Amino acid sequence: MADNRKVWRLRKRPDGDIADSDLEFVTEAMPVCGEGQVLIAVDYLSLDPTNRIWMSDMEQYMPPVGIDDPMRGGVAGRVVESRNDSFPVGTVVSGLGEWATHFLGIPPFVGALPVPDGIPLETMFGSFGGTAWTAYCGFLNICDPKPGEVLVVSSAAGAVGSLVGQIAKIKGCTVIGIAGGAEKCRYVTEELGFDHCIDYRSQDVGAELDRLCPGGIDMNFENVGGDIMEAVVSRMRHFGRMALCGMISTYNDGAPETVPNSWTNILMRRLKIQGFIVTDFAAQFAEASQNMVGWWAEGKLKTREDVRPGLENALTALGDLYTGKNNGKLMIKVT
Ligand code: NDP
Repeated sequence: MADNRKVWRLRKRPDGDIADSDLEFVTEAMPVCGEGQVLIAVDYLSLDPTNRIWMSDMEQYMPPVGIDDPMRGGVAGRVVESRNDSFPVGTVVSGLGEWATHFLGIPPFVGALPVPDGIPLETMFGSFGGTAWTAYCGFLNICDPKPGEVLVVSSAAGAVGSLVGQIAKIKGCTVIGIAGGAEKCRYVTEELGFDHCIDYRSQDVGAELDRLCPGGIDMNFENVGGDIMEAVVSRMRHFGRMALCGMISTYNDGAPETVPNSWTNILMRRLKIQGFIVTDFAAQFAEASQNMVGWWAEGKLKTREDVRPGLENALTALGDLYTGKNNGKLMIKVT
């Protein structure tokens, strides 16, 4: 086994967009496995919009990454040294790890990752893990879809949004996506089967929503925030439901959030708006993975992974999430 590992360490909290100097890619001694721990060689590193949140000290759902600490990330890999009988050498695992070639995993933050025959590890980890859980649990529990209802989902060509829209189609809903650019809109309508897609870069989102759903919107699965969210919320029907999953348009923005213009609508139309963090639904993860894999196997649902080579490219690749240059679930192939 190698004597050294490579790891990204957070040196400074970003101010606005993440700068190259905010993190440092270093080579250092391999960590020593303690009692109950396992040493994991990382195969895939998940890059997620929330990585920017973890780098900051804003209010969030777990402690921010400490200055000079290894950058935190979702990973899949293999146990290469074990001092935990439940995780023998060779076990394929996933969970919360580090932006590193190797790290010390401590259950339950990492757990065995079952990979069914015929499903590549990158798909099982990238699309049928946290991404699928977020889409399945957030949408079904909060939006509670009924056949014939209208869903609007933002970042529709992205990892989570693309799955939400496809689940809604399976449930018999009319699905309107919002995405950046003609090619992403083509992808969600022609390849994923959404009914419509609004290109927010070239179209007026509000005017298009008025045209496409004159009777209003029953459900919003919100990934973006800002003006796009306002345009959707202000057009929701009575007793509409909104799953507030993310607000990526605000993550690099240090400015204080504006007060939504929609409070009167929320009251008068009795809207339900619920923020969530995927871990709120941990008891449902197994069901989510099983159903999503089942729909995929039946040809009812597609996934798309955007896998970039080389841990050294992680920081540059992460920036693509905030400019829309990713096409599907963004990951780094580490080894
Ligand atoms: P995506 O694969 O959707 O990638 C991010 C996409 O966001 C980009 O491709 C881009 O798409 C879009 N985007 C970026 N900046 C803007 C902007 N300023 N305005 C409009 N769109 C923008 O990422 P994920 O599927 O991993 O994440 C989607 C959302 O879900 C994020 O908000 C994330 O934080 C959230 N999330 C929340 C979880 C939870 O537990 N609550 C768990 C996982 C994710 P385009 O080219 O269309 O602009």
